[in-house]
Amino acid sequence: MPELKLETVNYVVEYGYNNRTKKYGIFIKAKEKGGAKAFHTQFNLLDFNNNIIGMPDITEQVARYIIAHFDLKGDTESFNIYQNELESKDLKNRKSICADQVRHQITIPEKSFTATGDKLFYHWPIFKKFKETGFQSIIRATLTLHQLCSSKCHYCSTIRRNKADSITLNDAKAFIHKLYFDQAEFNINQFPEYNRDYQKITGSDIRLKSLILSGGGQPNLWPYFEEFVDWCSQLDIDMGLITNGFPKKVNENIYRKFKWIRISITPEDASPFYVDGKFNRQYMPESIKNNPNIKVGLSYVYGPWTTDDILLRIGDVLNRFGFDYCRVLTDCNLTRDAQLVAHKNLAEHLFNLKLIDENGKPTSNFFHQLKYHGSKKEAHELWKEEFCYLQIYNTFWDTTGHSEFGYSYCYACDSITVLAEESESGIKSSERKFNYEKWGTVKNIEVEKLFNEPHKKYFNPQRICSSCLFMRNNQVVKDLVLMKNHDKIELSHSLEHVNFP
Ligand code: SF4
Repeated sequence: MPELKLETVNYVVEYGYNNRTKKYGIFIKAKEKGGAKAFHTQFNLLDFNNNIIGMPDITEQVARYIIAHFDLKGDTESFNIYQNELESKDLKNRKSICADQVRHQITIPEKSFTATGDKLFYHWPIFKKFKETGFQSIIRATLTLHQLCSSKCHYCSTIRRNKADSITLNDAKAFIHKLYFDQAEFNINQFPEYNRDYQKITGSDIRLKSLILSGGGQPNLWPYFEEFVDWCSQLDIDMGLITNGFPKKVNENIYRKFKWIRISITPEDASPFYVDGKFNRQYMPESIKNNPNIKVGLSYVYGPWTTDDILLRIGDVLNRFGFDYCRVLTDCNLTRDAQLVAHKNLAEHLFNLKLIDENGKPTSNFFHQLKYHGSKKEAHELWKEEFCYLQIYNTFWDTTGHSEFGYSYCYACDSITVLAEESESGIKSSERKFNYEKWGTVKNIEVEKLFNEPHKKYFNPQRICSSCLFMRNNQVVKDLVLMKNHDKIELSHSLEHVNFP
């Protein structure tokens, strides 16, 4: 076979045989030092109406087409091919699509277990404080801790990570100490009026309320994981864990300290610890099974690797282990239209399996998170003030650059790694890494600046975030800031996990 290989600025793309999966497919390897790899064996074949009509294997002929168009279509959409594209080479041969065409109904689980913006109302005094003083309040933080992961997911949002970028236990403790103790003291002394309002609603001073550990896929591979979780659990912070799996050497009891755990189910050929290539045969700690004190959810990304069988096995695991829900969504590296097409096909798949009804309402403990990219027009309207509203209450500390500088950066959100865009000139693929030069706010070692200095604009989202996945949340924060009578807000008590807005 003639060599089918392409080198782009960020990746080496190559068709070949994978000894582990015993299949031919396309390898995508990030060019970063120690770069991560993904292996694609199938693609989505779509008709003119955006329906998936098959998920065939990638043959040599298809690989030739994918590699020839990789620069134009990017690292994700290359695996969505319209039926007549292969013959006509016309990339514009599809109907446009809007979100109303997707069977979907927003439910309490989606509002409780994802960030739809609805939980922000429970924290209104911090938005009033921002409006009247210009000072932010960081009540929610996510830490990646390191960049290790043993899986090789096709849609990995940080495939260009550097595996050496890890932090120490002291780095992590110092960060939390500032957001928890120093921030509370600052608000007690500087903003007692808003602090009193916040205490009335939440029972605490204005300070860190929740912490999510997300890792480069598996935060529980970080060497200080148990010690850090144990230390944090002595504080009044709600903790959440997002992981692909559970290393056996970690003491099972540590997972009892989390309020919730979300287990990402990867494509089954992407995780070496799936026994016999089946996610449901992986090791799961006994401490999280049938445990009413921890909300355990599964998360599944729909793509060409999806089969009825895997969705049914997910349902079986939910029942067998007493887990609470499965959130299903689409690959966020797709551009807006392609993502909506994927959502439409995902909803039809769920409907055919009777997991949702004809209106998109869940009939089971699966829920479909209809999350998709914004547009330039929406960005223009939303961010006239030229800053991201999420930075007012949220910070995401990612370790990118830590091995080089000894510090790394905070961000307003994690979706900056997956901001793919389509324009007249083609597809601009997502970064698939944290780019601190574009989106970084403060260094981890000066995180206090997020609450003890007046608000600052770090970047203009109108220019660099027009495919933001959190426009609705931004809009809710903006509305909360501009609101005239905050004390008239009535809180519904149906939502859970309100400290993870
Ligand atoms: S992508 Fe959206 S939420 Fe994230 S930093 Fe940009 S504007 Fe903020």
